[in-house]
Amino acid sequence: MRTPLVIGNWKMNGSLATNAALLDELLPALTGINDVRIVLCPSFPYLSQLSERLVDTGIGLGAQTLSQFPAGAYTGEVSATMLTDLGCHYVLVGHSERRQLFGERDADTAQKFAAAKSAGLVPVLCVGETLAERQAGQTEAVVAHQVQTVIDTLGIEALRDSVIAYEPVWAIGTGETATPGQAQAVHAFIRGLVAEQCAEIAKTLPLLYGGSVKADNAAELFAQPDVDGGLVGGASLDARAFIRICATLSGHSRSLA
Ligand code: PEP
Repeated sequence: MRTPLVIGNWKMNGSLATNAALLDELLPALTGINDVRIVLCPSFPYLSQLSERLVDTGIGLGAQTLSQFPAGAYTGEVSATMLTDLGCHYVLVGHSERRQLFGERDADTAQKFAAAKSAGLVPVLCVGETLAERQAGQTEAVVAHQVQTVIDTLGIEALRDSVIAYEPVWAIGTGETATPGQAQAVHAFIRGLVAEQCAEIAKTLPLLYGGSVKADNAAELFAQPDVDGGLVGGASLDARAFIRICATLSGHSRSLA
């Protein structure tokens, strides 16, 4: 079975006080949802705060990015082992905001993915096309290149126990959402690409959809056979919306048969 997974990406939002208030609302409800893996990704300074609050809740902790380097003179960077030290089990890699605003290229993403794996973190590889690329019919080529660069750099085994999130850039933070059919088509394409290289890894690989997932569109997206959950930005800061999104996915375990 592929366990349903919802990851909340808080982006560069929050404070000690607002995080505490959000967790006060989230934790009692989310701890009752036992068949969905739920992960929260706050900004770096708040990882300790969440690490303490998430003890014994079953909710996982993730970071939003990491350095490809293990240690040393890299001012402002945060290494994979620092993240594990703070209790992280997951890390986003190659989020489109990192690619678009901070110049991360596919090759950098592959190195970060490697750093995450070597520290025992679960990397969540974010892939997706811009609106111009979709309109030019390049969606599959772009996504294939983003996924294949990791495979070519690290080998197909690197995708074992990892996660891929398909996030069309035109849908992130815009209120635009891919239709369930558009999401399913790209998810099936990604699973097929991986299956050509290892059928077993493809079957167990969680594929998340991200891009303006909301409480009222989650059900139709999660009903798609290759959509195993969501990477949720804006709506993860709204306790009631995030709880509804996670509850929607309950009962959606995917048979591998
Ligand atoms: C994201 O941050 O990965 C994301 C999908 O954001 P939003 O849900 O706000 O579009």
